[in-house]
Amino acid sequence: MANKKTKWSLNAAGKFYVDDQCIACDACVVEAPQFFAMNDQDGHAYVKLQPKTPEDLKKCYDALEGCPVESIGDNGD
Ligand code: SF4
Repeated sequence: MANKKTKWSLNAAGKFYVDDQCIACDACVVEAPQFFAMNDQDGHAYVKLQPKTPEDLKKCYDALEGCPVESIGDNGD
């Protein structure tokens, strides 16, 4: 389960975030490129845009469920 206390500061403020357990597998970026991006320099993904519509939300949840290390959370501020 993702931990909002260890989320990356690069995450856009809001519901979704990526924490420091991310292994940079790229799955969320492929699944929902509108909302997730990779920080190649530091080797982790982050949320670049928070979802607004129900369709957006589904894409983010698809990414969350596909994360192999449960590094994506939906209980952010
Ligand atoms: Fe990181 Fe999970 Fe995204 Fe893979 S799917 S890049 S482990 S947040």
